[in-house]
Amino acid sequence: MQINHLINGKAIPGRDYFETVNPATQEVLAEVASGGEAEVNAAVAAAKEAFPKWAGMPAPQRARLVRKLGDLIAAHVPEIAQMETRDCGQVIAQTGKQLIPRAADNFYYFAEMCTRVDGHTYPTETHLNYTLYHPTGVCALISPWNVPFMTATWKVAPCLAFGNTAVLKMSELSPMTAARLGELALEAGIPPGVLNLVHGYGKEAGEPLCRHPDVRAISFTGSTATGNRIVQAAGLKKFSMELGGKSPFVIFEDANLERALDAALFMIFSNNGERCTAGSRILVQQSIYADFVAKFVERAKRIKVGDPMDDSVTVGPMISQAHLAKVRSYIDLGPKEGATLLCGGLGTPDLPDHVKRGNYVLPTVFADVDNRMRIAQEEIFGPVACIIPFKDEAEAIRLANDTQYGLSSYVWTENIGRAHRVAAAVEAGMCFVNSQNVRDLRQPFGGTKGSGTGREGGTWSYEVFCEPKNIAVSL
Ligand code: NAD
Repeated sequence: MQINHLINGKAIPGRDYFETVNPATQEVLAEVASGGEAEVNAAVAAAKEAFPKWAGMPAPQRARLVRKLGDLIAAHVPEIAQMETRDCGQVIAQTGKQLIPRAADNFYYFAEMCTRVDGHTYPTETHLNYTLYHPTGVCALISPWNVPFMTATWKVAPCLAFGNTAVLKMSELSPMTAARLGELALEAGIPPGVLNLVHGYGKEAGEPLCRHPDVRAISFTGSTATGNRIVQAAGLKKFSMELGGKSPFVIFEDANLERALDAALFMIFSNNGERCTAGSRILVQQSIYADFVAKFVERAKRIKVGDPMDDSVTVGPMISQAHLAKVRSYIDLGPKEGATLLCGGLGTPDLPDHVKRGNYVLPTVFADVDNRMRIAQEEIFGPVACIIPFKDEAEAIRLANDTQYGLSSYVWTENIGRAHRVAAAVEAGMCFVNSQNVRDLRQPFGGTKGSGTGREGGTWSYEVFCEPKNIAVSL
């Protein structure tokens, strides 16, 4: 199978190709066109040319096409879910039942919303001030390899619905489902040039795209290091930067322990632990620490690791051998830093023969972690839980905030006052109280500190995908 660029509605062959590999089996899934400056220039030119007509289309008409794309995704869930699972190792139980169906919802939501874009009026004695929201223009959408289809659709749906045109660059490690999205967009009747795809590596394809003077906005999801590089290279543009995380999952002694345990396990082991909002620092109050750790480890040991195409599997392979080596290096580091390894470690899981060559790691739990250890400060991005004790509310807040990141956070307590106090005090873009991470598309999604700038979701998406204009009429 060959995956080509999609520029102005046409499949454009690559001058070079690279392979995308199934991380569970190492089987080559496709040869993918590797783009560079020439393909980026062509794609941006196509997006620029398509922009005036697409932006000028009445919103209800645009909404119909965007909704149609949602319908096509909904009609192809099993096909896309299997492709996603093969390409990136996310288990089929997640891709088939949650991630791909929810991607269709992204298009339904923003199709509806683009017909309701409003503004503000500020009448005075002398003037009538009001705002208009215009589409921004050509947008660069850059996605990482974890949950690639969901991330791409979070960007493509608002971008297109608000009247922008796009050049999408997926991670070189997981390009397959987005290529399918490009085909479905054309099938939905979205005009050629509105959604373009350039495949390739960050340096060769991503960087020229971000630097391009005709690109007005960049919606990027990826690591903090790359985010910094992009901001420096891109110059004056609008940015939405969704970056890394090391989110605190804080459990007080009065929490509903059973529910907290389920959510804590889910937030570090689902999606293979390759999740930006992972609750990777589990802060537990001293009085319940021993009990919590014992129960958490008992459950972690029961997690099924294996073929991501098997519906009963919770943890699949890491995306690549390089990423596997990175995750294993942190598992190796933990005990050297003084953490106690309670389950998992550097052994290999018991696997069916056909996935024995996969990039597997055991779900791993470290207790007695000090928040200043590297395993607690650096983003591991794998199924590795760090459990950290704390004495009281003040210490919980101090530890929660003692990190370069600020993406998500979680607070578990039955004390309503404490829940609100801690939620307000934690330095993060999002705080979930007595809950795992649940995305509501109206909510501002994004982070603070090293986790990024800008928010997306609901009207927050105006920040990057719309240009507000103030109009002042003398009365
Ligand atoms: P990455 O930063 O290595 O790559 C992300 C994308 O950027 C890829 O498409 C890559 O090709 C491209 N890229 C690389 N260098 C570039 C450059 N110089 N210019 C332009 N583009 C470039 O990240 P990754 O390893 O693919 O993904 C994992 C990271 O993404 C983690 O840090 C994770 O926390 C983060 N993430 C964040 C969110 C969020 O919403 N905040 C969601 C998912 C993942």
